[in-house]
Amino acid sequence: MNLVLFGPPGAGKGTQAARLVEKYGLVHLSTGDMLRAAVAAGSELGRQAKGIMERGELVPDELIIALVAERIERPDCARGFVLDGFPRTIAQAAALERMLAEKGKRIDAVIELAVDESALAARIEKRIAETGGARSDDNLDTLKRRLAVYREQTAPVLEWYRERGLLHTIDGMQGIEEVAAAIEKVVEELR
Ligand code: AMP
Repeated sequence: MNLVLFGPPGAGKGTQAARLVEKYGLVHLSTGDMLRAAVAAGSELGRQAKGIMERGELVPDELIIALVAERIERPDCARGFVLDGFPRTIAQAAALERMLAEKGKRIDAVIELAVDESALAARIEKRIAETGGARSDDNLDTLKRRLAVYREQTAPVLEWYRERGLLHTIDGMQGIEEVAAAIEKVVEELR
């Protein structure tokens, strides 16, 4: 089973992805985590991505697509995965569809965590408090830019998946347990 968790920054994608990993043994593929690891390692990709991430903008499609293509090839992904933070553009969604089709695979469901934008600043502030500000893009100015980028470049991907009959929308304003239960319901229907 291959899933995409979708939603703006602070929607709870990472939290819910961790639950899916635990419950269904899926591999968690977070492009944000992969990029942060590249920045920490000081690799060429990390060098290219660092400033872009700090500004809250998107890393170029070709870099992200190559990163995901390489990761998805690894044997652990055969047991199924949950993508978190990817795809963020239509070009990324189309590239993902192509790379999976080459292996006779596909995305089984896209789960959107729908949240009120007005609640996101408080959620990010909570994450800053919990992580001691470990993420250099967790601040309110960058959040504004990330939300604008989400609206302009990422939200259209939802329509792309809706047209393909893959989109499931969940109320992400509920508590963590309620959201997890709603996601499980979608997943159980797929199994
Ligand atoms: P995230 O942890 O998913 O919020 O990602 C943090 C930052 O990494 C984003 O604000 C982007 O700068 C970059 N990033 C992560 N995933 C992608 C992606 N799929 N496409 C472009 N940039 C990305």
